[in-house]
Amino acid sequence: MHDPAALRSLHLARFQAVPAIFVAPGRVNLIGEHTDYAEGFVMPVAIDFATLAGISPRTDGKIVVYSENYGEEKTFEAAAPPTQAGKHWSDYPLGVVAILAGEGYKIPGFSLSLWGDVPLGSGLSSSAALEVVTMLAVTSLIGVAIPGPVLARLCQRVENEFVGANCGIMDQFISANGKENHALLLDCRDLSFKLAPIPAHIALVIANTMVKHSIAGGDYPTRRRESEAACAVIDSHRGGVPFLRDATLDDLEKWGHEMEPKSLLRARHVISEDLRTVAAEKALEKGDLAEVGRLMAEAHRSYSKDFEGSCVEADLMVELAQDLPGLIGARLTGGGFGGCTINLVEQSQAKAFAAELGKRYAAKTGIEPQIHICHASGGAHRLE
Ligand code: ADP
Ligand code: MG
Repeated sequence: MHDPAALRSLHLARFQAVPAIFVAPGRVNLIGEHTDYAEGFVMPVAIDFATLAGISPRTDGKIVVYSENYGEEKTFEAAAPPTQAGKHWSDYPLGVVAILAGEGYKIPGFSLSLWGDVPLGSGLSSSAALEVVTMLAVTSLIGVAIPGPVLARLCQRVENEFVGANCGIMDQFISANGKENHALLLDCRDLSFKLAPIPAHIALVIANTMVKHSIAGGDYPTRRRESEAACAVIDSHRGGVPFLRDATLDDLEKWGHEMEPKSLLRARHVISEDLRTVAAEKALEKGDLAEVGRLMAEAHRSYSKDFEGSCVEADLMVELAQDLPGLIGARLTGGGFGGCTINLVEQSQAKAFAAELGKRYAAKTGIEPQIHICHASGGAHRLE
C-alpha cells in the first residue's frame, strides 16, 4: 500500500474526513560506520520502503492516532497530551506533539492514520520515517514550514528526549532530505551535506542476517569508550582533538604505543572510515563505481577486524556475495554485531543476486535471510 489512495480511503472510512497525505522513507547507510559520535562523516541513502501519514483536523479537541501496521487506535486530549513515553508505538507521534509544543507551537486536535512498509526493527529506520512523516504532517496542519535539516533535528529530539533512544541524527536527516538517485554525505559536525549521484541502474540489495548479538559489557558503549580513550591520548599531546574527526592516521603512528591495543584499533577504524566516506562521495561524483566497491570492501574489513563490530553471520553474508554476478560492493551496515549488509548491485542482476545470496546463506547457516531490492529514493514530502 505505497498507494496514497488506499490510505486516503482508510482514513476517510475511519475518521469521516479527507486527509492530507505525506510520505517519509527509511534508509540504509552506504558507508561511514561509528563515525557520527566522533563528529565525522556518514553517507546514508533513502530507500523505497516508506511510511505514509494521513492527517485531518478535528473539532473535539482530541488527538486520535491509528496505525494500520498494528491495527490499533489511541486517543489523547490535545490540551493535555502525555508528557512521558508509554513504551508504545504512539510514543513517536506523541513525541512529535511534545517537542513541537515545547517549541511554543499550539497543537490542535487531529486524526492521524499511519501505514508503512519499512520493516519494523530491522535497522532500516522505521522509527525515523515515522517521526519525520508525523512531523511533516503536523507542521503542515498548523501551517508551519520547517526546513528539512531543522525538521530532522526536531525529530532526533523526539527519539532522544521523548522516546528515550540515544540515536544520532543520520536517520532523520536522510529521511527528511534524501534525493532520488542520490546518496547524502553528511558532516555530523555541522550538518552540512552534499548529494552524490547513484546511477539509476544500480540497486541497493539489503540482506538481513536475521541475527543481532550482544557482547559482554554492552557493545555500543564499549566501542565508543575505547575509541574515545584513543582520542584523549592524541589530544593530550597536540591539543585541538576533541573528537577523532580531528585526528589523523599519522597521530596513531606517533602515539599509538601509548594506547590500549584495542583503543588503537577502534581509533584506526574511525579515522580511516572518515577518509573512506569522503572518498566514496568523490568516487560517486566521478561515476567511479569500482572505486566505491573497493572502499566498501575496505570499510567492511576495517569494521570487522579493527572495530570488531561484525559477527560470523555478517562476515559470511559479505563473503558469499563476492563472486556473484553484478556485485559492485558489499559491507555490513548499521550499528553492528548482526543486522543487515548493503550490496551495490547492477539492477539487471539484482534479482538473481538476491536469490543466490539467500540460497547460499541459508545453506551455510540454516537461517532464511530477508533480502530486499531497493533504490536510492527521495526524501519526505507531501503526496496529496
Ligand atoms: P527501526 O527504526 O530500526 O525500524 P526501532 O525499534 O527504532 O527500529 O523502531 C521501530 C518502532 O517504531 C516500532 O516498534 C514501532 O513502535 C514504531 N513504528 C515504526 N513504524 C510504525 C508504523 N507504521 N506504525 C506504528 N508504529 C511504527
Ligand atoms: Mg530506529
